[in-house]
Amino acid sequence: MTANLLDFDLEGLAAFCEGLGEKRFRATQLFRWIHQRGASDFDQMSDLAKSLREKLKKQALVQGLTVISQHESADGTIKWLFDVGDGNAVESVFIPEDDRGTLCVSSQAGCAVGCRFCSTGHQGFSRNLTTGEIVSQLWFAEHFLRKRLGADGRVISNVVMMGMGEPLQNYAALVPALRVMLDDHGYGLSRRRVTVSTSGVVPMMDRLAQDCPVALAVSLHAPNDALRDNLVPLNRKYPLSELLDACDRYLAHAPRDFVTFEYCMLDGVNDQAEHALQLIDLVRSHASGKGVWCKFNLIPFNPFPASGLLRSPQPAVLAFAKILSDAGIVTTIRKTRGDDIDAACGQLAGDVKDRTRVGERIAQQRTILLQPLKNLTTDLAGGSQ
Ligand code: SAH
Ligand code: SF4
Repeated sequence: MTANLLDFDLEGLAAFCEGLGEKRFRATQLFRWIHQRGASDFDQMSDLAKSLREKLKKQALVQGLTVISQHESADGTIKWLFDVGDGNAVESVFIPEDDRGTLCVSSQAGCAVGCRFCSTGHQGFSRNLTTGEIVSQLWFAEHFLRKRLGADGRVISNVVMMGMGEPLQNYAALVPALRVMLDDHGYGLSRRRVTVSTSGVVPMMDRLAQDCPVALAVSLHAPNDALRDNLVPLNRKYPLSELLDACDRYLAHAPRDFVTFEYCMLDGVNDQAEHALQLIDLVRSHASGKGVWCKFNLIPFNPFPASGLLRSPQPAVLAFAKILSDAGIVTTIRKTRGDDIDAACGQLAGDVKDRTRVGERIAQQRTILLQPLKNLTTDLAGGSQ
């Protein structure tokens, strides 16, 4: 069987190399070629013994995802749609800012949680991505951008697991992918700059704290169980008090001394003064003497027709933010980016349900949109597309 080396963290690659009868340190060289240099052609890896390269050619490959399309926003945001087979597609979004470059990465094709305000949730669940498919999004984007910008060093400084899917419902594939991102021989990102966003899979939050404690964002969206049950169905399984206790436990391991609560502002649903006041009570009742232990990030809702929901007007968002801030809670309002290319939160399409349409789109766009990208993709993926 041929192994895709993008599926391995360094430990896994070392075990693979040992299986080939090679010393473990060879894995470090190989890992650096793949992740730091973007190489996929073993012949390019000049400091590896010829005998090893021959073995690798027979038993391994470095297979990235195929890009279906790339869209660029006027604000510099870039969205890629990747083919993951069987008519499924996932998206990644690069968001450039003055002091950082953030890649928003998908963890699943579709999502089983089914939040009311999320287009991915409305599409249903198709399947978990593999470690290689998660890593491939970063591998592709990083080396694509370096090449385009003529940059020697790193372009992507932050990763947020905020694309399609619930990362903590794909835990087994997620953790090795995070390790590749953090590894000094991989992308070398600090734990503070890699964020897992979850709708609140409590047991997996505890495991993440042990296995790979990166920064944590929790999608709260409601100040009480009745409303949250309705907006985020997972709340029926892990209600707010359990979720906040889990946040508290996570903080003992987290790279930052706060958890970020994401709160999608829905007109007339969760954006009233009474909701802000309830949030303050909720947060205070879980503060256990620690002072400020969370931040709020208010997300303007990105509407889509099937949701039947509307974006809160800007004055309502500002008023809500003010109530939280006045209570001493650090609150930011997320800028919407990439609006013109549907790259904003919750607009990540992928259309997993409508397989025929995606299938058609994949077929059409591969030939039409991808022409200018083709050489580059071939370079990076070593013709493996
Ligand atoms: N499943 C994880 C991560 C992916 S969603 C989670 O739910 O946290 C990333 C963020 O986008 C979440 O906070 C989610 O609530 C938010 N989001 C989803 N749909 C949205 C929409 N239509 N408008 C604005 N934000 C949305
Ligand atoms: Fe899934 Fe997150 Fe969307 Fe909810 S908001 S449906 S958990 S991707």
